[in-house]
Amino acid sequence: MGAAEFTSVLDRAAEGGRITPEEALDLYRSAPLHALGRAADAVRRRRYAGVEHIATYIIERNINYTNACVTACKFCAFYAPPKSDRVWTRDLDDILRRCAETVELGGTQIMFQGGHHPDYGVEYYERHFSAIKEAFPELVIHSLGASEVAHMARISGVGVEEAIRRIHAAGLDSFAGAGAELLPARPRNAIAPLKESGEEWLSIMETAHRLGVESTCTMLMGTGETNAERIEHLRMVRDVQDRTGGFRAFIPYTYQPENNHLRGQTQATLFEYLRLIAVARLFLDNVAHIQGSWLTTGKEVGQLSLHYGADDLGSVMLEENVVSSAGARHRSNRMELIRLIRDAGRVPAQRATTYEHLVVHEDPARDPVDDRVVSHLSSTAIDGGTAHPELRLVDAES
Ligand code: SF4
Repeated sequence: MGAAEFTSVLDRAAEGGRITPEEALDLYRSAPLHALGRAADAVRRRRYAGVEHIATYIIERNINYTNACVTACKFCAFYAPPKSDRVWTRDLDDILRRCAETVELGGTQIMFQGGHHPDYGVEYYERHFSAIKEAFPELVIHSLGASEVAHMARISGVGVEEAIRRIHAAGLDSFAGAGAELLPARPRNAIAPLKESGEEWLSIMETAHRLGVESTCTMLMGTGETNAERIEHLRMVRDVQDRTGGFRAFIPYTYQPENNHLRGQTQATLFEYLRLIAVARLFLDNVAHIQGSWLTTGKEVGQLSLHYGADDLGSVMLEENVVSSAGARHRSNRMELIRLIRDAGRVPAQRATTYEHLVVHEDPARDPVDDRVVSHLSSTAIDGGTAHPELRLVDAES
């Protein structure tokens, strides 16, 4: 593609026209970076006309219920083989205390996240989700993904549709869409050979959407996949979204190199990440929200992503142990995230899981000042996080 063709395709996309996977790959490989970002930003502005000056964040907590996992993904630094002496599990009381802290700090969402434990079937999730909802009906359970559904259905000997219906009835509000990793077969087999196929992952999400359980969708960049495989991941997502409309957001993040079998032999550059954010905004014309990941790429890249098509900067993640175990060391707090968004030229807004604006921080003089709302307050992987199983704010008796 020459300069004139790049301009023509970018203009078409910026005006709302659909681009093909081949065009997306050409843009991703070779379009001038600034032109790519300008077109993606034009699409974002048009989609959010009237509120295009706003960028959102959410306050949430990842609650890791166990690190025991039979799936042994090669990029993962979090799991332990089930018979290992490194295995831990959190009991329901501990989980509920973490929920209580989340509510106390203004969090609205929890991501229940853990390994594929050999004994945890549908019943385990039903028991925990219903207990969480009973104690904290205001908390949105935005958790799990197709991989966990496939695993729990297998353990319980039921179909995925029944598994989804039952955990939804017990309290799951939406799927976080983790486990998408790379959907195309070659890179997926290379990094997660024991996971379900990309087609199966999408098929389970499609079933969930049909049952009224929406989701987000992630993408793991930097484990050795080709540019063409990155765009193929986007194509697979867009095709399902054309049928269901159930993906609320697309969330690419970058592989972290520490403590896993891949040993950091490959990694995505920050420019590759920004280009992917922009191409995702242009190509995924049927997905509303694109999230920039400051957690894995850093705060400055997070800010830049807001100029390359992203409209959301993710979360103040009160607790995170999975990517921080693999080396992600970026921490933040609510006040800083608000400042980062404002310094990027946007008005910050705290959002709900479904992206409604809960609080728009129009006036800096009225910004929240609770300095307890920090990321990683209970991380096992970062110095300064509260080591498991202690809780900083709510003691075991309260
Ligand atoms: S990514 Fe998830 S499924 Fe894979 S090894 Fe880690 S905990 Fe297990």
